[in-house]
Amino acid sequence: MSGARAGAFDGSGIPAGGGRVGAVRGTVVIATERCKGCDLCIPACPPHVLEMSTETNALGFHFPLLHDGCTGCAACADVCPDFVFEVWRYS
Ligand code: SF4
Ligand code: SF4
Repeated sequence: MSGARAGAFDGSGIPAGGGRVGAVRGTVVIATERCKGCDLCIPACPPHVLEMSTETNALGFHFPLLHDGCTGCAACADVCPDFVFEVWRYS
């Protein structure tokens, strides 16, 4: 994977690169086994590309799944209390 790890906890909410609004320019790695199923990340994702799974992890919680269209904005990482998201931005 090419790209650079985003400043996931910088709190700026401002995407790097200044690309076209809505352009796909990132992705997330989701550590599903750490998720506690709180749902905070779902409404926090601006392009609505996160959806909770129907299956559960080893802890018994549903966890987010990523659809196409991630912008690498890091909003999910900012709200997640369990450090589940690793955000990458394409350069
Ligand atoms: S970084 Fe997270 S909040 Fe931002 S678009 Fe991707 S999945 Fe959604
Ligand atoms: S915010 Fe974090 S802990 Fe909560 S559902 Fe999303 S990934 Fe899981």
